Amino acid sequence: MTPIQNADLHCHSTVSDGTLAPEALAERASANGVELWALTDHDEIGGQTRAAAAAKACGMRYLTGTEISITFINKTVHIVGLGFDATNTDLVEGLRRTRGGRDNRAMEMSEGLAKVGIKGAYEGALKFVGNPELISRTHFARFLIESGVCRDTNEVFRKFLIEGKPGFVPHRWASLKDAVTWITGAGGLAVIAHPARYKFTPNEEFALFTEFKAHGGKGVEVVTGSHSVPEYATYADTAREFGLAASRGSDFHSPDESHTELGTLPFLPANLTPVWELLASRIQ
Ligand code: AMP
Ligand code: MN
Ligand code: MN
Ligand code: MN
Repeated sequence: MTPIQNADLHCHSTVSDGTLAPEALAERASANGVELWALTDHDEIGGQTRAAAAAKACGMRYLTGTEISITFINKTVHIVGLGFDATNTDLVEGLRRTRGGRDNRAMEMSEGLAKVGIKGAYEGALKFVGNPELISRTHFARFLIESGVCRDTNEVFRKFLIEGKPGFVPHRWASLKDAVTWITGAGGLAVIAHPARYKFTPNEEFALFTEFKAHGGKGVEVVTGSHSVPEYATYADTAREFGLAASRGSDFHSPDESHTELGTLPFLPANLTPVWELLASRIQ
């Protein structure tokens, strides 16, 4: 059998902040030539059974997935989990707790936006939510675009939803240790998502990778829709330096928003161990 190259192990459905259902994503991934797929909704695995069944119907191989929000030295970092048992109680319960703070946070975000004259943002964002436990900044962004306050997602985040802006509410997510432990305890593999996005100093980034490994983390995203081409090379080096396997994923959210299309990024650079080689026994 030829080795898998077109793996897309990062994307979002209506179960978190994507706009397509798991079935539609599976069809889209398959149409783009994806051989191995994972749906990685934020802090949620409620779409896994549907995604696995849809992958099978399209003739695609599948790995279970999620993207867990954590707080590391006061910044939000994302840890992707792949190939876990989606019925594992600690994982299910840990994710439920991680989702738990989102509704209050969203109401506070709405209060912040009301102070600068944007009324009804909570109710407005809710109209875009597919899963009541998973209201995210992306849903607020869709509301602010629909209501004509901003032209696109970038503008919304830049003006309203990042640290220091009126709709930003500091939030404490899971710990790095908990997220990695939930994933590995359920038989899966933990991956640092889009490391270039965090804008850590070299020392902070070293701390993240070192602690991640110490807790049992095994992978890092190298080729992702959130990285530039030079960043593929940078994080290929980081993967080799830290002895981590490499992952590839579009982080696709919606056909209408400026995100990378499923299955279309370059393949992983040479001399890296793909995460799916370590997960051979978990592929469905
Ligand atoms: P939350 O988990 O509620 O903090 O929302 C995070 C989500 O917002 C991410 O997963 C992205 O989908 C989206 N997001 C974050 N930053 C940006 C940005 N600068 N531009 C567009 N989308 C963003
Ligand atoms: Mn998202
Ligand atoms: Mn992310
Ligand atoms: Mn993502």
